[in-house]
Amino acid sequence: MKVPKSKKTFCKKCKTHTDHKVGENKTTGNRGSLKKGSIARSRVRGLGRGFGNLGKWGSKPAISKFKRTGSKSSKKVSLKLTCKACNKCSILPMGRMKKVEFEQK
Ligand SMILES: [Zn+2]
Repeated sequence: MKVPKSKKTFCKKCKTHTDHKVGENKTTGNRGSLKKGSIARSRVRGLGRGFGNLGKWGSKPAISKFKRTGSKSSKKVSLKLTCKACNKCSILPMGRMKKVEFEQK
């Protein structure tokens, strides 16, 4: 999906419509390299889901052997809107899409 690089939308801090810079929100759910302590911290924040070894070892086969693995070809995308006047960020969930493209407007 093509998304404009800047967008005029409501800013909670300025309490009016201002120009916002649009970028991809990259922090949500990226957990691959986290240590145990930071998993606990992200769990407090409502991220870091699952328990135990997340099914990585044990009697179950590897997740790549599962029948429906890789059936989803799209990812849930959320955009990060930064107010150009006061630098306040807000997150805009966009739903599933295969690819995000930022285009100059
Ligand atoms: Zn603002």
